[in-house]
Amino acid sequence: MQSYRGKRMPEIIETVKCVGCRSCEVACSFHHKQLFWPAISSIEVKRREKTGRFGIVIHTQDEKGRIACDGCGFCIDFCTNEVRDELAAILEKETSYRKGAK
Ligand code: SF4
Ligand code: SF4
Repeated sequence: MQSYRGKRMPEIIETVKCVGCRSCEVACSFHHKQLFWPAISSIEVKRREKTGRFGIVIHTQDEKGRIACDGCGFCIDFCTNEVRDELAAILEKETSYRKGAK
């Protein structure tokens, strides 16, 4: 795990199936602040230039206006059906989210 001034560096996790719709970002901002404001979301979707695939960053600490992920799983409810398992696996790895624990 990399660290920066004692904080964990957010890592981009490349996905196989993500289609880049960014519904997860909108859902997350609504979960935190009842606003549609992706810039504050704990989840960030990034297109990888090299592969053309989408990568996901889960912010686990408050930083640069983003709110730390609390592992609520709300973003999964708004993710494309075929991608939900992949997103759930990323959340399980990065946060306190536990599949089936809702
Ligand atoms: S699990 Fe994390 S990224 Fe997903 S909606 Fe909840 S706080 Fe946001
Ligand atoms: S993780 Fe799901 S909701 Fe988020 S951009 Fe990818 S397909 Fe869309």
